[in-house]
Amino acid sequence: MPQDDHPLSIETLVVSAGRPPVGPDQPLNAPIVPASAFHAGGSLEYAREESPTTSALEQAIGLLEHGTATAFSSGMAAANAAMDLIPPGGVVVAPSAAYTGVAVRLRELDAIGRIRLRIVEADDTEAITTACEGAALLWLESPTNPLLQVADLPACIAAAHSAGALVLVDNTFATPVLQNPLALGADLVLHSVTKALGGHSDLMMGALVAADPDLAERVRIRRVLLGAAPSAFDCFLALRGIRTLAIRVERAQDSAREITRRLEAHPMVERVRYPGFGTIAAIDVAGGAAVAEAVCGAVVVWTHATSLGGVESLLERRRRWPLESTTVPEGLVRLSFGIEAVEDLWSDLDSALTGAPAAAASAPGPRRAPSGGA
Ligand SMILES: *Cc1c(COP(=O)(O)O)cnc(C)c1O
Repeated sequence: MPQDDHPLSIETLVVSAGRPPVGPDQPLNAPIVPASAFHAGGSLEYAREESPTTSALEQAIGLLEHGTATAFSSGMAAANAAMDLIPPGGVVVAPSAAYTGVAVRLRELDAIGRIRLRIVEADDTEAITTACEGAALLWLESPTNPLLQVADLPACIAAAHSAGALVLVDNTFATPVLQNPLALGADLVLHSVTKALGGHSDLMMGALVAADPDLAERVRIRRVLLGAAPSAFDCFLALRGIRTLAIRVERAQDSAREITRRLEAHPMVERVRYPGFGTIAAIDVAGGAAVAEAVCGAVVVWTHATSLGGVESLLERRRRWPLESTTVPEGLVRLSFGIEAVEDLWSDLDSALTGAPAAAASAPGPRRAPSGGA
């Protein structure tokens, strides 16, 4: 366990956190405990409240993010639990292009009068500072999905706190390997564990991490009452994914840096959106929606699918989702870098881009997917 005078590095923590106690015959890994209820008389009662495999995962995520974690059945379940903490009619300041599901849900809550929403750009610190006056919650995402805007977290957190607002940071894109919002003063961190923490595109889960134990307890009660508990098997998978988080992020970030550098000079790319760190980028493809769709349809090493943060590199045109923010350009393709060889990723993407105008000319119009994607 980390000592205050010598805290363990994130590369070590991802390997060591959330293990059973050390002792003869103890398993190295947290066992999968598929039980809804536990014999009375001890500390465990009912799995929606607390369950051993879930607790192991929560211990690990809490250590990675410097707080107390509660696991949920998806990132959106965690997001809704956080929204449930807002007092009736409370003002929420949130980015225009936050994750689609979050943005749509906040707008729904505003429309029924449950909250009052003030929309800002995540990279406009001055506007955020002004909007925080009288707010209950500042909801930040940095970098944002999918525009890759970066918020000045310390400045925004200070502005929100001096206005008396809580600060939540969706840290799904940066991951705890690259950014710890609680260490920067935020009150709550949100993760879609579905993404980089899970890392293998084989589970759905979310987490909220609170710096303050009382706030953490309020979050846990939201999980209990809203009913969004994850399964023991998924918690096991997420823990297994976390073991390689640091090495996956390092590898994928190297590829992201190299390929975005080359894309800057690509004639089919109008704009590269990459903040210089992290494993996600986006490109504005020259020629708009149809050409961008043709790129997504032509790749063979990359996978054309929504979501992000897995070992496999994924790409998609975000505006194929009708609920995506209209501030996202029609031809924007989001790139989630996996851990394949960088030259294989590059040659595949390069030839898909180069061949896209011809492919688009002979293809049907862009497809629309049904909802919001990930
Ligand atoms: C995917 C995502 C979510 C939602 O998480 P789910 O696990 O899909 O419910 C929230 N925030 C960000 C930034 C995401 O990418």
